[in-house]
Amino acid sequence: MRYCIANWKMNLNISESIDFIRSLSKKNLQNNKTTIILSPSFTSLSDVSKGLKKTKIQLGAQNVNSNTHGSYTGEISVSMLKEFECGWVILGHSERRQYFNEEDVILNDKLNTVLANGLNPILCIGESFDQRKNNETFSVLKHQLDIALNNIEIGNNKILLAYEPVWAIGTGLAATTDIISEVINYLKEYLMQNFSLNIPILYGGSVSKENSSAIIDIKGVDGFLIGTSSLDVNEFYDIYLNMIKR
Ligand code: PEP
Repeated sequence: MRYCIANWKMNLNISESIDFIRSLSKKNLQNNKTTIILSPSFTSLSDVSKGLKKTKIQLGAQNVNSNTHGSYTGEISVSMLKEFECGWVILGHSERRQYFNEEDVILNDKLNTVLANGLNPILCIGESFDQRKNNETFSVLKHQLDIALNNIEIGNNKILLAYEPVWAIGTGLAATTDIISEVINYLKEYLMQNFSLNIPILYGGSVSKENSSAIIDIKGVDGFLIGTSSLDVNEFYDIYLNMIKR
């Protein structure tokens, strides 16, 4: 299975989200080998969930709290997400790591809560520009995985890993196919050897209709996590079409 995932971040209000799904659901989405997941803002989850009811498009959230309930002003729990039939949740996006101090230990807690409550996590990892320049890419990725995945129990859930080099996010400069291939190979091997995990690995970072065919052709790339290009329904659909053609 391949995954074409939209991360709308803090964009698209309710009416814009509804317009998007109206347009998307009119298109041919019959490919069974590619799952589309839309991750709107929390405030749009309810309407998007209703709008997706008769479609095969799935619903994701952009974050969740590691506690199941309690005095955590401004936070959202797993059971609140499940009320909207939200099956997926993005964890560890670099923007949350950077602006909200989300560290790997917090992600480990979140992964435990999410998995224990039957949601499917999309875990994001990636190195910064300086870390790549200093040849620290693999040690950074290893560290992020070691802590986030420590003692997690996946059970019957699905878990996806998104390799998102921080320097490629929102910059218009996607990683080269050589870099993506090298990192994905490393991650596949590391996950198997250290966690006995064989899970889908996605690429994220300035994916566009222009570069998506070349990236999806890379062995081991199981889909995309898409920010900017997911805000325009036609561009997002073009990327989906590029995925299903290959
Ligand atoms: C993202 O935010 O996960 C992302 C990949 O953004 P963009 O596609 O804009 O680089």
